[in-house]
Amino acid sequence: MSEKIFIGVAWPYADGPLHLGHVAGAYLPADIFVRYHRIKGNEVLMVSGSDQHGTPITIKAEQEGKAPSEIATQYHQQFLDSWQKLGISFDLFTTTGTANHAEVAHDIFLTLLDRGYIYKATVSQPYCPHCQRFLADRYVEGTCPYCDSAGARGDQCEQCGKPMNPVELIDPRCRLCAATPQFRDSEHFFLKLTAFEDRLLAWVKQQTHWRPNVLNFTTRYLEQGLKDRAITRDIEWGISVPVDGFENKRIYVWFEAVIGYLSATKEWAKSSGDAEKWRSFWQGDVKSYYFIGKDNIPFHTIIWPAMLMGYDDLNLPYDVPANEFLTIEGRRLSTSRNWAVWLPDYLSRYDPDPLRYLLSINMPETGDTNFSWREFVRRNNDELVATYGNLVHRVLTFVYRSFDGCVPMAGEFDSQSQAVIGMAEDTLNTVDGLLYHCHFKEAMKSAMSLAQETNRYLDDKSPWKIIKQDRQASATALYVAITVLSALSTVLYPFLPFSSQRLHNFLGFDGRVEDDGWQLHVPPPGQRLLSPEPLFSKLDEDLVEEETSRLGGIRCW
Ligand SMILES: [Zn+2]
Ligand SMILES: [Zn+2]
Repeated sequence: MSEKIFIGVAWPYADGPLHLGHVAGAYLPADIFVRYHRIKGNEVLMVSGSDQHGTPITIKAEQEGKAPSEIATQYHQQFLDSWQKLGISFDLFTTTGTANHAEVAHDIFLTLLDRGYIYKATVSQPYCPHCQRFLADRYVEGTCPYCDSAGARGDQCEQCGKPMNPVELIDPRCRLCAATPQFRDSEHFFLKLTAFEDRLLAWVKQQTHWRPNVLNFTTRYLEQGLKDRAITRDIEWGISVPVDGFENKRIYVWFEAVIGYLSATKEWAKSSGDAEKWRSFWQGDVKSYYFIGKDNIPFHTIIWPAMLMGYDDLNLPYDVPANEFLTIEGRRLSTSRNWAVWLPDYLSRYDPDPLRYLLSINMPETGDTNFSWREFVRRNNDELVATYGNLVHRVLTFVYRSFDGCVPMAGEFDSQSQAVIGMAEDTLNTVDGLLYHCHFKEAMKSAMSLAQETNRYLDDKSPWKIIKQDRQASATALYVAITVLSALSTVLYPFLPFSSQRLHNFLGFDGRVEDDGWQLHVPPPGQRLLSPEPLFSKLDEDLVEEETSRLGGIRCW
């Protein structure tokens, strides 16, 4: 029976390009999952969008002498381009800058206000007497009280990673003019998280299917006790506060960005011509998955669920398969120090599937993993090219040459051939179960062992050597191999969509892999193959040094 699945993916800040940490943390696993459900024939919707608000964008705009909207639009376009080239197949990738998003955010804000889950209080906020404005947390800098490093920000110290309140900084100063900020009273709205503590804890305890890291982190966080959180700020860039007297304030970005999952679904429904269709992904029998990096866990397992509980009409998350971090050449990724591999850079030089392969087989699912260019080259050359690509190429070129470009007719299967066909069937089942439970790395390994075993089978059977003496035995071995190739194009499709589609066409199938369903599709004898070409190409060892030397240098965009 077909299932209904909603997939929300973290909203990237439109203040800079995407990097491999983003891809490994959220976008690739989400895309593997959505493609898997599509090929299974399930009804699935995957949405996200660029987060256009928040101070990182206004800071970037000030640095570049542009309007925040200009920066946000520029990076939004770049995100769309990256998704297309990497094959991240959103049903909708929108932005938080739409009128629709503001409307949905206002509805949630006012409903929670009406029910007493949002309340007003006066707080002390940093104010720059020289600039004559309140300063958002990131606009205050000073010395970190925890590690003594200079240049810590009012929201976080980058050096030691501690979250910060501006009032904690030693020698605070305005980032714009270096004056010492004062602290002045300002009226703001708060989300009453304390009201949800017991319900959240009871709910989280039932989520035994969550990854242990997500479940443990969330439980600890809740057991330490929640605090109400301010959800408005004295800033100019953001969603307006729909209450009189708050014209100069905005809704804080963390509160409205998560609402994007719902507003994006409504936008998708409207553009499909049935504005009410959003309900089918938010109410009733549908599972909601949120793919995010581990730094985003509390927003998706505590704050967003609390908002949904308060709104009381919409499904809570079913699973939040958050990934851990990806380090780069053994060091923590840092965008400010340019210790990152930028996605547009990667995509301008290499194909998408080798990256998707490496980040799948090395996915930071249960602990941090490392990306290195040496491993990228090694896995491309030794695994993608030598194991999988070579299997495909030697089978298809030989069949194409020796059997008039058509799938040969098999004779009787011996036990060895039966075992290989059985393994192809088993792999379809195993990968199915693993992907269903978001075990991506294991699923990829299982698919690759089928390719390895089939190479061994062919080495044993040597159809290219025996064709002169025993054409039938050669045809049978090749037919078995072709059956495996067909299974591989299915199980690898969620991971490697570009090469899987090509393989599907080389095997003589028209149309899209996705439309053929999750099953063993054996090309019938006599089916005409397409003239085969290599699926992957070998990479030059020299690129390791060239790419590594770019890290930490000056970034030129
Ligand atoms: Zn520090
Ligand atoms: Zn100032």
